[in-house]
Amino acid sequence: MKRRSLLKALAAVPFVAHAASPGKEKSVKELQENWKTFLPAGATVPSPAEPLKLSKDEWRKRLPGPSFNVMREEGTERAGTSPLNDEKRAGIYACAGCGLPVFTSEMKFESGTGWPSFFTTIPGAFDMKKDFYLIYPRTEYHCKRCGGHHGHLFDDGPPPTGQRYCNNGVALKFLPKDAKA
Ligand SMILES: [Zn+2]
Repeated sequence: MKRRSLLKALAAVPFVAHAASPGKEKSVKELQENWKTFLPAGATVPSPAEPLKLSKDEWRKRLPGPSFNVMREEGTERAGTSPLNDEKRAGIYACAGCGLPVFTSEMKFESGTGWPSFFTTIPGAFDMKKDFYLIYPRTEYHCKRCGGHHGHLFDDGPPPTGQRYCNNGVALKFLPKDAKA
């Protein structure tokens, strides 16, 4: 009952792509191709072609507790707890485990769910997998480079893709394009 009214409330929240400016709609292809323009000046980032493989103990040492729980044990952070929900600056969202760029600020939208949400990704950032934790199958996605769990993909996102990448904030690291902004 509680869950149903929550879902109803969420359905009533309009989806707004805050990065889109009227009359200047970019195609998904453009958003995906121009991701490097969102990197901070002089930043060097890894590529999915250089895999990062560590043991569970090494990950435990490397990641803060909440990130370890989400990324290596498939946990979910509490809704509304991530400071990245309100992040509106231009920049890159990178994997908190390995630094691989996964989204740009132009791909983010306000979903009203309490988790950072994106309607597309930087090409090749994630691998997809079906999980069955909640009776019905969900598409879970993992960082292509380090295998870290990030979140789930839903098909109730805004145009132009209709996709919603519901990402745990603790699995992301934000790199502002202008470090002084
Ligand atoms: Zn990673």
